[in-house]
Amino acid sequence: MVMTDSPPPSDRSNATQSGPQGLVLALFRPVLFACAAIGLSIGLLVFFHHGAPVVATAPTPQSETAAVTLPDPEPAPLITAQDFQGFQPAGPGQPATTPGQPSQQQQQADAEPPASDRYELTLRLEKGDTIEKMLADINVAEADRKQVDEKLQEILKKRKIAIGETITLQVQTMADQPDAPRVLSLSVRPQPEHEYLITRKDDGSYSGEEKIYKVTTRIVRVEGTRHGSLQQSGVSAGAPSAAMIDFIRALSYDVDFQRELKEGMKFTVLLEQLVTSDGKITHPGRLLAGELFLTRNVVTIIRYRPAGGADGFWTPQGESVIRSFLRTPMDASHITSGFGMREHPILGYSAMHTGVDFGAPMGTPILAAGNGKVMMAGFNGGYGLYVKLQHTADIGTGYGHMSRLGPGIKPGVSVRQGQVIGFVGATGMATGPHLHYEFYRAGHPVNPLAQKFAMRAAMSGKDLAAFKAMTQRYQGQLKNAPQITTPPANTAADARQPGTPQAPQVASGR
Ligand SMILES: [Zn+2]
Repeated sequence: MVMTDSPPPSDRSNATQSGPQGLVLALFRPVLFACAAIGLSIGLLVFFHHGAPVVATAPTPQSETAAVTLPDPEPAPLITAQDFQGFQPAGPGQPATTPGQPSQQQQQADAEPPASDRYELTLRLEKGDTIEKMLADINVAEADRKQVDEKLQEILKKRKIAIGETITLQVQTMADQPDAPRVLSLSVRPQPEHEYLITRKDDGSYSGEEKIYKVTTRIVRVEGTRHGSLQQSGVSAGAPSAAMIDFIRALSYDVDFQRELKEGMKFTVLLEQLVTSDGKITHPGRLLAGELFLTRNVVTIIRYRPAGGADGFWTPQGESVIRSFLRTPMDASHITSGFGMREHPILGYSAMHTGVDFGAPMGTPILAAGNGKVMMAGFNGGYGLYVKLQHTADIGTGYGHMSRLGPGIKPGVSVRQGQVIGFVGATGMATGPHLHYEFYRAGHPVNPLAQKFAMRAAMSGKDLAAFKAMTQRYQGQLKNAPQITTPPANTAADARQPGTPQAPQVASGR
């Protein structure tokens, strides 16, 4: 049993020094960015806390919230057997279809020997640009560019082409006028399922057409091996980074990335891509399920939306990956004194230690372990500055020795999981800065670290039956779905890039 109530400074440094720890920090930077509340770096936390909130969640009552609440993911389209029909893995065997080349034209081009005077131009609409100006810049004859522009305005129906939009042109150079290329077609595709197409007819006039492509889903899997960052390993293997962030976030409640995740470990993610009827991928892949192969076990996460509930990730047993309570109400902490009998460091005699002490530097933010209501916020004898939260009728948590309270924390206010309720201090009976953390069940203190009960929401009844069936299907697809092996060329829908501090919040399970 540990006798001290405050950590020796040498212990602290372990958690924040660079070196191997720095490497680990680098490996999980995306996750850390994501979890302002729980990231290893307190500096980051404070920055995000006071600066632009990175919390990609529904609006919270407190602007200061560094919440661990997860963003509400996009709704899950239903997946049917149809998803598998018509799937062809992208490969060299497939002709590349570009937005400007409708399949009919493509076939024509294939049928005829390629004419050297025909070519494709891809231009960007710049600031202050117009289509007509763009065509004038490439020396298209005035009569032609006027017509093209007119037809385009007709089908655009007052819609504007955004700055930066790509315009694809099929152009032909005529022998009799080599300096004035002829526009055979012009295509603008603001959304992958939406194309505005102008084509030159045989009589030299132009016609405009608004094309709508049907979007369908296809299920693919990506197999990867962890080398360095798990997220980057997934991206290199062909998964979109947003899907990898989802994967890491879903795993983070159960996987201790520092200790359990080793180089060379394998993982598989199952993705749902959206594909237009002309074969264009409009979404590089939304995470449906994933498997991480650890030394001794496989951690599987499954996306599911229970009836009337929110979309989220679940264990194959039908329990939410999200824990109702954080295991540790702060990061950059380590246990300096466990729950149970001990010799009190100040009083000098044996007494029951009714909580767990977490050593952390003065001023480290303390997070609400779960959603609840503030019952007490103020000085409380030996506890010093103390906050008590009630989470359910049965469960409460207490936080002692704070240096100061979190913004807006007073009796009666509601708090969300991960919200900053105070800062580490050494008020009351404490030999050094630490958090004394208590967990109450039915009014009695219990060991917070032993409370695995009721930590997760679980499905039951019809939901569970439907979920089990889906899980079985996904588990099969994790092994059998068509595999993609290279990063998708079209990642426009995957806005989040590695390293962008735009990642979701993660509760580390340590
Ligand atoms: Zn204590």
